[in-house]
Amino acid sequence: MRKEKVFKIFIDFDGTITKEDVGEAIFRKFGDEKSVNEIVDKLLQDKISSRQCWDELCGLIKNPDQTKLDDFIDSLEIEPTFVTFIKFCNDNKFDFIVLSDGFDYYIERLFKKAGIANVKYYSNKLFIDEVKGLSVTYPYYDADSPTSANCKKNHIINHSSDDDYTVYIGDGNSDKDAAQYCDFIFAKKGLARFCSMERISFYPFNNFDDVQQKLMELMSKKNLRKRHQAQLKRKSAYLAE
Ligand SMILES: [Mg+2]
Repeated sequence: MRKEKVFKIFIDFDGTITKEDVGEAIFRKFGDEKSVNEIVDKLLQDKISSRQCWDELCGLIKNPDQTKLDDFIDSLEIEPTFVTFIKFCNDNKFDFIVLSDGFDYYIERLFKKAGIANVKYYSNKLFIDEVKGLSVTYPYYDADSPTSANCKKNHIINHSSDDDYTVYIGDGNSDKDAAQYCDFIFAKKGLARFCSMERISFYPFNNFDDVQQKLMELMSKKNLRKRHQAQLKRKSAYLAE
């Protein structure tokens, strides 16, 4: 019997599942715009790690108003094609995991608003205290991965095996390292620019319909080849464990 292809799909949240970067939008809305820009610029120039970036951004908001924050989160949107994409994955028995360098607080809220349940995700954690301010914890932090405070690469290694065709879907800075461990990369914005610069092959996409269409093409290929550089990267990560 022919063995079915098994795709393991890893998906960024901010700017990929949502139309805009929710984490950044929150700080732009409630923090001082100039300071936010300075901190984000430092991150994009690799002068500070993602964890430092979040810590500094949280420091900008002294007395968060939870109702206003919730209302703002509720005004943001999940990419509508993501809902059909979940069905496509479930119908084909493809595991998919959301890997976010943002926060559980708004991921839960936005999924609930869109009627999305039981999606496995890993992220950082945000706590809101109207007196003490915002605080964050990083349960999946790995000092070796400065571009993402939630080490996305480790989740990929832990949730895939040699039999899987790994797929990464993302748009930004926190995906740069992790995407390189996957066989098929779907990239837009900053991640697409990074892949082009580093000569890493990727599929450009606008929304999840584009991803679905390309995956259907890949599924029908007789000899689907894994990306050699990704195989080498995964091999060295397994050996290092
Ligand atoms: Mg993103």
